[in-house]
Amino acid sequence: MKVERIPTLGDNYTYLVIDEATNEAAVIDAPELAPVVKAIKATGVTLTKILSTHHHWDHSGANAELAEKYGAPVYGHASDHDRIPGFTNGLEEGDRIKVGNLEAEILFIPAHTRGHIAYVFPEAVFSGDTLFAGGCGRLFEGDPEMMNTALNEKLAKLPDATAVYCGHEYTESNLKFALAVESGNEELQRKMESVQKRRANAASDWHDATPDEMTIPSTIAEERATNPFMRVNSREIIASIQKQFPDTATDPVTILGHVRAMKDSF
Ligand code: ZN
Ligand code: FE
Repeated sequence: MKVERIPTLGDNYTYLVIDEATNEAAVIDAPELAPVVKAIKATGVTLTKILSTHHHWDHSGANAELAEKYGAPVYGHASDHDRIPGFTNGLEEGDRIKVGNLEAEILFIPAHTRGHIAYVFPEAVFSGDTLFAGGCGRLFEGDPEMMNTALNEKLAKLPDATAVYCGHEYTESNLKFALAVESGNEELQRKMESVQKRRANAASDWHDATPDEMTIPSTIAEERATNPFMRVNSREIIASIQKQFPDTATDPVTILGHVRAMKDSF
């Protein structure tokens, strides 16, 4: 399996998942046609599927144009049939789809939107706007309980080495917030150092970004060690929340809700 990271819009990631054995590829979360066409030409792959993690236009806006140009079907969660552009094929939790000889399993992880899914390949998960490196998506259509299920009962249980390919290059600002609630986490401190090095000379136009300045992929192990939304049992994070809410309950859902609310206004 090979993954091409395509910088799109201002900070979005679009991915080309390539099966090198058959030269077939799927595109994941395409908001812009031109950069995807360019990557398909450069790699010489045959595009056979168009996949969206959720309906937001910055993850699906180019689906219809791509479908027309390449004659490929468009996949998303079945419940989003009327709001994912170009939608043809509905997916549910546990469904499997093939890209050449590669196979992904679908995880249903509603919270950022009510139809959000992840594509889980044996070595890599495409997590859209649910799990970011160092953060998670805003709760537009779900609640803390749904996000806790998505992050801590589903995604966190994938194998440690699974590469995490998320929807946006938000890592540096996510880690700034993470350090504000868990400054004593040494692995987090080290990750921030390496992320800042990568981002120091970033291109002013994200479309021109090179692999050197991309902080994605992360891994499930790294996220469990550094992402505050996956660390709702951390004593330091709970203590940070209790400084503002002395009488708060400390169960994972309540803590995640507080962390999310703090991040929203950080
Ligand atoms: Zn989104
Ligand atoms: Fe997004």
